[in-house]
Amino acid sequence: MNEIITFLREKDCRVTTQRKAILESLAKCGQFFSAQQVFDKVKRAHPDMSFDTIYRNLNLFSAFGILQQIHLPKGDGSVFEITASPHPHLVCLSCGKIRCVDNELVDLTVLNEAVGSGFIICRYSLEFYGYCSACRPARRAAGGGKEADVCI
Ligand SMILES: [Zn+2]
Ligand SMILES: [Zn+2]
Repeated sequence: MNEIITFLREKDCRVTTQRKAILESLAKCGQFFSAQQVFDKVKRAHPDMSFDTIYRNLNLFSAFGILQQIHLPKGDGSVFEITASPHPHLVCLSCGKIRCVDNELVDLTVLNEAVGSGFIICRYSLEFYGYCSACRPARRAAGGGKEADVCI
């Protein structure tokens, strides 16, 4: 967590008491966490902090590349993960399990060359939705046994 604080200071981001409290609570939130989960943790020690403050700071940390936002399907909002390098995620449509994918799949240098000089890609958020190995057998049985029937 101290590395993150040092990193933010280097980027001229003021690490206020509020921000520090949020960062400290992130370490206790598990791998993937929602703004609501962070809010529930932070408000125990800082009852005056609003959900809006938490949400704005999580987005700010995402912009600095400390957090990555993962968008959930079916309008379930998003969760965050602490990460030093952005990478895509696999999200199961059935059980909601999230898996990290090696970031080598997405090469920003290659993408920027493909996009051309009219735009520069700085960061990304990429989710693939499908079914994990635990949920697939049930989907396959329901779809007549073919793997292709899983994707409906
Ligand atoms: Zn699943
Ligand atoms: Zn991840």
